[in-house]
Amino acid sequence: MSDALTHFPPTFAAARQRLDAFVPRAAAAYARSRNFDFGPGNHDNVSILSPYVKARMLDEVAIIRAVLSQHDESSAEKYIAEVFWRTYWKGWMELRPSAWLQYTSDLNRLRDDIQTQSGLRGRWDEACHGQTGIAPFDAWARELVQTGYLHNHARMWFASIWIFTLELPWQLGADFFLRHLLDGDAAVNTLSWRWVAGIQTKGKTYLATAENIAKYTDGRFRDVKGLAQHAVPREGPGDIPAGALPPSDPFPLPGRYGILLHGDDLDVDRLLLRAEDPVAFAYAEATPGHSPWQMAPHVAAFREAAARDGVPEDAEMETLATAQAIADWAAAHDLEQVVAPYAPTGPMRQMLDAYRAIDGSVPLSLYRRALDTAAWPLATKGFFPFKENIPDLIGQFVRR
Ligand SMILES: Cc1cc2nc3c(=O)[nH]c(=O)nc-3n(C[C@H](O)[C@H](O)[C@H](O)COP(=O)(O)OP(=O)(O)OC[C@H]3O[C@@H](n4cnc5c(N)ncnc54)[C@H](O)[C@@H]3O)c2cc1C
Repeated sequence: MSDALTHFPPTFAAARQRLDAFVPRAAAAYARSRNFDFGPGNHDNVSILSPYVKARMLDEVAIIRAVLSQHDESSAEKYIAEVFWRTYWKGWMELRPSAWLQYTSDLNRLRDDIQTQSGLRGRWDEACHGQTGIAPFDAWARELVQTGYLHNHARMWFASIWIFTLELPWQLGADFFLRHLLDGDAAVNTLSWRWVAGIQTKGKTYLATAENIAKYTDGRFRDVKGLAQHAVPREGPGDIPAGALPPSDPFPLPGRYGILLHGDDLDVDRLLLRAEDPVAFAYAEATPGHSPWQMAPHVAAFREAAARDGVPEDAEMETLATAQAIADWAAAHDLEQVVAPYAPTGPMRQMLDAYRAIDGSVPLSLYRRALDTAAWPLATKGFFPFKENIPDLIGQFVRR
């Protein structure tokens, strides 16, 4: 049984407390120690905020504002850059949704391969259960399943060993992460795995070495044997031209409307600031769209509990698991409009598009954050040109 929700209490108050506790360490201490993975329960050298960030219980503006209340921009530069890495990956995917569609179609093919090829199935099974005999890899597989989290460096080593030492398809590794990570995200996860595999930045792979693992696990894993010595880039559609960001829908006009929250954005207060009280609240869960296999129960449990925590105390909140269930909910409450936070490329967006395709469904308005609208279209090239825009974005959205 996972204890992910003990490590990550699913409340807005817990998210805020964790941010407040971390802020004093967000400058020099973070820059100095952030690459160390000290093991389960010992991740205080990083902010361990990602499940809250993923569900937008904290956004870039809230985080950076808190950091800049105690540090200046240059001393907290490393941390601020990491926060914007996520913004960058989200924008990159939003301009090129075909990268997600390609990944999901690859996974469906691999599901058939797993069923028909017992050798592949056996190696995949051993990797997912932490039974490869590679001690750190096995420990990270267990930590992920148990806690719903892994340190960034562990994710890089794990993905590298999965791809180049175990020679398993990267898509199966990305799927294993997405089924267990509390912060599992269609854009950040897929693109990070593509990056390790050498698809995202053409020809540039990430190779895990025994020396690097020994150093940055503080000696917990010494002399790891048998790791691949070379990382030959995997095949994949690297160069996908950037399209345009679709416009954000307007916030609804007066009328009977319901708020539909989902795991890509649970911040109900942002929506409530804009309008009269809604008639109804619901939470949509798209876990089956994440993977051809069963998701770890803690992922849906975290998001649903956090959604419940966010809605006003006296309000009822229904949980809806299909596009048709959303249509039925809207009809039952006689809604004229459904308002939801913007759902970027991924399983929830697919569910909402399916809802819109239902004959006679009530209009759905997907309302995007101003920072996303400004920042995502800047993800046309690599992270480094994108990074040049950070001071401007901070000036526009954080310091205003
Ligand atoms: C193979 C692989 C898969 C990953 N999958 C995911 C995923 O599904 N969801 C996810 O949120 N992150 C993912 N990451 C990025 C990163 O590992 C996590 O965001 C980070 O470890 C979260 O821990 P933290 O909150 O303590 O990070 P901190 O170091 O404290 O950073 C603060 C915040 O910045 C953002 N951030 C930090 N590092 C990165 C990064 N490299 N890329 C993008 N954003 C970053 C996160 O929102 C994080 O919460 C992945 C990385 C790799 C290598």
